[in-house]
Amino acid sequence: MKNIARYTVTAALPYANGPVHIGHLAGVYIPADIYVRYLRLKGKDVIYVCGSDEHGVPITLKARQEGVKPQDIVDKYNAIIKDSFAKFGISFDIYSRTTNKTHFETASAFFKKLYDNGDFIEKTSAQYYDDEVKQFLADRYITGTCPHCNNENAYGDQCEKCGTTLNATDLINPRSTVSGSKPILKETSHWYLPLDKYESFLRKWILEDHKEWKSNVYGQCKSWLDQGLQPRAVSRDLDWGVPVPVDGATGKVLYVWFDAPIGYISATKELTKDWEKYWKSDDTKLVHFIGKDNIVFHCIIFPAMLKAEGTFILPENVPANEFLNLEGDKISTSRNWAVWLHEYLIDFPGKEDVLRYTLCANAPETKDNDFTWKDFQARNNNELVAILGNFVNRTLVLTQKYFDGKVPISNQLTDYDKQALADIPTFKKNIEENIENFKFREALKSLMDLARLGNKYLADTEPWIVYKTDVERVKTILNISLQICLNLSAACEPFLPFTAAKLKSFLNVTEFGWEDIGIKTLADSHQINKPELLFAKIEDAEIEAQIIKLQNTKKANESAHTVAIPQKPNISFDDFTKMDIRIGKILEAERVPKTKKLLKLTIDTGIDKRTVVSGIAEFHDPAKIVGKQVSILANLEPREIKGITSHGMILMAENADGELVFVSPDKEMKQGSLVK
Ligand SMILES: [Zn+2]
Repeated sequence: MKNIARYTVTAALPYANGPVHIGHLAGVYIPADIYVRYLRLKGKDVIYVCGSDEHGVPITLKARQEGVKPQDIVDKYNAIIKDSFAKFGISFDIYSRTTNKTHFETASAFFKKLYDNGDFIEKTSAQYYDDEVKQFLADRYITGTCPHCNNENAYGDQCEKCGTTLNATDLINPRSTVSGSKPILKETSHWYLPLDKYESFLRKWILEDHKEWKSNVYGQCKSWLDQGLQPRAVSRDLDWGVPVPVDGATGKVLYVWFDAPIGYISATKELTKDWEKYWKSDDTKLVHFIGKDNIVFHCIIFPAMLKAEGTFILPENVPANEFLNLEGDKISTSRNWAVWLHEYLIDFPGKEDVLRYTLCANAPETKDNDFTWKDFQARNNNELVAILGNFVNRTLVLTQKYFDGKVPISNQLTDYDKQALADIPTFKKNIEENIENFKFREALKSLMDLARLGNKYLADTEPWIVYKTDVERVKTILNISLQICLNLSAACEPFLPFTAAKLKSFLNVTEFGWEDIGIKTLADSHQINKPELLFAKIEDAEIEAQIIKLQNTKKANESAHTVAIPQKPNISFDDFTKMDIRIGKILEAERVPKTKKLLKLTIDTGIDKRTVVSGIAEFHDPAKIVGKQVSILANLEPREIKGITSHGMILMAENADGELVFVSPDKEMKQGSLVK
């Protein structure tokens, strides 16, 4: 690429079947927002494009579950998602939707052009069909066992456990998610994009020309290319989506992954009449920000589509992040295991930047990372409050106190003063290099290092002590500290836009841009405003409340998955009295060699001391159960287990997760007491 005249930055279209959570923000929208805000500050021509992905099977599934129309689902979640992004300062130039008219026209025309060019192949194949509800079962309408890892809940297009891309017919024991029935195979015809034809182009374009891509992205692409690409269907039998614009294609729509990325183009068309220069001009740099689950679509499939179409540019980079986990567990919409942005906004009003900060500082840039509420609190209290907030607040308060809020005149500089000022451009350069290389954590660290420098400068120069003896020196110290605050107000803007605005209002400045960092200064006697705290401490109680909320979610999930087993057929009282159940005491316990589950117990039953073999070793340490009173079915026919004769059975209660718990008297009883 020669000169870059403009930037088109896209962020993965969030799927409109649920609200957005911290994983989305950390993986895609915050890094993209930092990148775009930075480019804008540099005066670049940049557009930041996103929108809701509103087609596809999960939306029709959800509508079916809730007894509403798919349009109702996407209207609801599009509104929630759009609002959350806006409140977190995600500065899209447009947030569109794939159910818009412009998108239907654009996606349709795109398909039609490839169709007319003869770029597709049409294939008839047997696909799963649910005979109970009379419909073909695309992708996620089918679940079954993954042939690679035996995950019993793999989808028809992908196993989320091992990450393998699947065909529905690969699944062992397929089930329809619509009716739960076993689907049948039935013939249907679809259009396919012959990805294999683009393999050599993709191989050169990615593996040779884009070695600079992040290693996780490059590595995934290489592994797909090395496996060999197959033709991929671009249509589906479904009644929700962009209709296939071809005669005789009734009941068929564009596959959601064909239509969704075209959404970036449609959104740009809605944004500006001048959209073509952002998509068709060689001096435009196209960057897709995505999560790692979208790499194949943005690096293989969409570029093949664009290449086939022929008039569009290809992405220069596709910086994909890994996943963010929550308190050690994978974030899951269905298990409600997430921190939802719309809930955070209610629980932590005015703390949007704290979440932006935490998610960037802990971003899953090179590996999966974990969000914990304790870390969130520590980042706020130990970094934002104690370093950035503390430095700014002390500087501004002292300026008010000693000089009525007027910037004091700087006198002769010491070497230390000169060094502090001379360091500022280095921080700017570090931030720039890291942002331009998509290393946002490092960039944020450089920003905080500038705040650390300010904080240390104040701590070392101690103006609150020097003031008693040398007011002139304090003027210089506060002048320099104020200049550092000014530089921070621009440097923090890509990361912490709300904080940047506050800091600028405290300093009473409007005109101080990125290129002014390290150059422009606050004029002598410039009047600053009365400051407030930039950041407030987050108390233990607030964090505790969030942790309890998650614990309750976990409990609710557990009980939702526990179904009481139906009652067994009635028995007579006589049948019951035939059972000799009594209280016994465990006298000895040892593992049965070469078994995982079995313990050999010696039980005092009140009538004798006998051997019982019990399958409880996974849950009970033999050393810890000696002396315990238990219930034993004493007159069970003796049985040989692993060469040991077992005389009776210890009664156990079984938890939903299979854990076995003793049924013991709630006070010490005499051995042999009957249970009746
Ligand atoms: Zn699998």
